[in-house]
Amino acid sequence: MSPTMSSATQPFKSIRDLPLKGKRVLMRLDLNVPLKEGKVADTTRLTAAKPTVDYALAQGARVILMSHLGRPKGKVVEAFRLKPVGETLRREFGWTVRIASDCIGPDAETQARALQPGEVLLLENLRFHPEEEANDPAFAKRLAGLADCFVNDAFGTAHRAHASTAGVTAYLPSAAGFLMGKELEALGRIRKNPAHPFWLILGGAKVSDKIQLIDQLIDQVDGILIGGGMQYTFFAAQGIGVGNSILEKDHLETARQILAKAEAKGVRLLLPLDHRIAKEFKPDAEQRATEKPGVPDGWEGMDIGPKTAEAYVKLLQEAKTVLWNGPLGVFEMEPFAKGSRAIAEALAGLKAVTVIGGGDTAAAVNRFGLTDRMTHVSTGGGASLEFLEGKTLPGVEALKG
Ligand code: AMP
Repeated sequence: MSPTMSSATQPFKSIRDLPLKGKRVLMRLDLNVPLKEGKVADTTRLTAAKPTVDYALAQGARVILMSHLGRPKGKVVEAFRLKPVGETLRREFGWTVRIASDCIGPDAETQARALQPGEVLLLENLRFHPEEEANDPAFAKRLAGLADCFVNDAFGTAHRAHASTAGVTAYLPSAAGFLMGKELEALGRIRKNPAHPFWLILGGAKVSDKIQLIDQLIDQVDGILIGGGMQYTFFAAQGIGVGNSILEKDHLETARQILAKAEAKGVRLLLPLDHRIAKEFKPDAEQRATEKPGVPDGWEGMDIGPKTAEAYVKLLQEAKTVLWNGPLGVFEMEPFAKGSRAIAEALAGLKAVTVIGGGDTAAAVNRFGLTDRMTHVSTGGGASLEFLEGKTLPGVEALKG
């Protein structure tokens, strides 16, 4: 992860533009990691946030970290305390990490005042207070009161206008961290000047989640490859049987409109040629590949079939830009991960800009051990989708001042 952002290429300040020596730097990170039996089960988000904190510490800053964890809905929930995260940061990164019992109030204030240069103070879960998600100005001011400046490196929550992502910027000199910069640069390249041929790969459960993305990108892409659960709405819209496969009956017309739009614009929109189907939604259910498009009654489409994977991989060979959003099958079950794996392996071998749109697709690529082989794997699911849909992100807008 290289800290490449400069204020010359972004309309807001980078952490590099802030004087940090001796300063108290309030940093919003996305430390919303999965926990298992009270321990951090996956450190991907911690590793992604590390360069910005390391940089600030090396500059002699006193770093005050804040994040949400889970969905405690404005109340203290013991299972969502950030203590295990603090312990992991200490152990894995060797930082001196103090842990506050709340994110505002006397303990946080005393510990922030006592913090020494080169040390880290981790505030307790922001979402224990309803004022965080309500973007309450008084709450934001109390957070801001702990520090001299603010750095936002939580790209994953940049699509939310919360006190810790937007509110605090009213009270402190503010800048973006390296992860935020890297995300905006990589996704911005897709939005602005993608090299052609540009292929969009879409999967995931629902077509309704991807309509805006298709609308935004249809004028830029050369082709769209469809897979995942969303394909069945396209098939049903054309009168092709889908058996018990996941289907959005309310969106048949939407699917028809997308097909018509792609045809009118000369964009190749490809649907699977075959499917891997199962009798039940289980990894060990009776299963087979179909000969042709469509799912027989009594069966459920679980993954793209081998002919489809081969055809898609072949088409991708010519790509210069690929954006992939949504797994092509139920990748969480090994027998139905083959399609997504074939695509991920093909992307890993391309001489092209390959961008993975976060969330489940990032989890799939990670599962295949191919994260490092992509140009960029976004750490923000919802945020990356909204950014690519052309929306402005409140957490990013707030940094523009
Ligand atoms: P999304 O969050 O929209 O990208 O959807 C991701 C989810 O879609 C994953 O949990 C996949 O298991 C699921 N998915 C992919 N293909 C299928 C399918 N054929 N049937 C049901 N769910 C699927």
